[in-house]
Amino acid sequence: MTYNWHKLRKVVHLLCFLIFVALPFFNVVRFDLPRQRFYFAGQELWINEFGIVFFALMFLMFLVVVSSVFYGRVYCGYLCPQMIFSEASMAIESRLRRLVVKKFIHWKPKRRELLVRTLFYGALAAASVGLAFIFMAYFVPPRDLARSLLSLDIRTAAGIAGASVTLLTFLDFSLLRLRFCTTVCPYGYLQGMLGDGHTLLVDYRDARHDCIECKKCVRICPMGIDIRQSPFQIECVHCGECIDACQEILARLGKPGLIHYAWGEKGELVGQASGMAWYQRIGIRDAKRVVVLLVLAFYASGLCVALAMRRTVLVRIAQEHETLYKVDAAGRIVNQFRYNVANRGSRPAAVAFSIGDLAGAALALQPNPVSVAPGAVLQGEFEISEPPARRSDMVSHFTIYATTTPERQTESFSMTFIAPVEEK
Ligand code: SF4
Ligand code: SF4
Repeated sequence: MTYNWHKLRKVVHLLCFLIFVALPFFNVVRFDLPRQRFYFAGQELWINEFGIVFFALMFLMFLVVVSSVFYGRVYCGYLCPQMIFSEASMAIESRLRRLVVKKFIHWKPKRRELLVRTLFYGALAAASVGLAFIFMAYFVPPRDLARSLLSLDIRTAAGIAGASVTLLTFLDFSLLRLRFCTTVCPYGYLQGMLGDGHTLLVDYRDARHDCIECKKCVRICPMGIDIRQSPFQIECVHCGECIDACQEILARLGKPGLIHYAWGEKGELVGQASGMAWYQRIGIRDAKRVVVLLVLAFYASGLCVALAMRRTVLVRIAQEHETLYKVDAAGRIVNQFRYNVANRGSRPAAVAFSIGDLAGAALALQPNPVSVAPGAVLQGEFEISEPPARRSDMVSHFTIYATTTPERQTESFSMTFIAPVEEK
């Protein structure tokens, strides 16, 4: 079976670009640094919600591990924004060059090159502003960013960061491009550690000596390497462009291509491994892979459980221990308590406090319920008092209830009421 990897890759690149743009604007994944919030799957998480942040980060980390163990550097070739935008910038530059040559064929080459450079750098400068905006939206609310951009702010932290990211983006996609993959990015080296004999790679196999030395596979390679030398070259991003190139050339001679995706250097070729179970076809080939999948499933379930158990409104109650109790003018025994209410949702909420298991007791809090705006944290105090009575125990156990609306959830807190003991 033959595939057109180039076409598939371009469709995946387009999808990735749309996802890259959509993630921060729909709060699917976003760190809001100024407000110290982490958005995941539409949920607003506070940085101190350790469980969810931990499971989310571990899940994402193991997703990278699973992808590397199973599919090698397919992430680099198909999903990485650096690769997507580098290739796009190279494609735009070469299209502009072809267009200028066609339209201004009678111009001197130097003059044409000057026009190409001017047009390309102008387009790249505009694209860098857009890309930097999207990138920054992962860390700063898009509305604040738009305000900084429209006022050409380069004085506040967000403005300076935005201008720096724009400049770096421009330099990256005008000078560095795919050199980034072999110089700056550590992922290629990480892949060397995670891959093994069953990991997907791009392999040249020519048992019948069919290679016609056309070198199309070398010319088409975005990384400028010759895959025939070795399938383990650090530069190879497993993009599959050389597979298509060789296939196309040899098809003219009625022969199959010599370069393939394969499950390891000695493993079966992708798409030609008939008789294999479905799980082997997707790369589950040994116990190591089952284990990494189980670890990924563990973090995915931990994340789901942590999200399901999450309360939008967090209520904390603590007893004021400085004065154990006091006696008011009417002789009632009074204990003081502190509350802390955090609304981590996007709608206003209210929390009503009440007490149980303490006969004759009264709760003094004005107003009750306490209203709390989205994203706000409120702290306050209230008193619980008991009528004067003869007591044999200094400590009585009772419950404070906190009922949150609009969720209609009631949380109970076991507390103690302290009162003086009657001398016998
Ligand atoms: S494209 Fe195929 S036939 Fe041409 S040099 Fe590369 S491997 Fe050989
Ligand atoms: S050798 Fe082939 S798969 Fe590797 S980067 Fe070059 S074109 Fe892509």
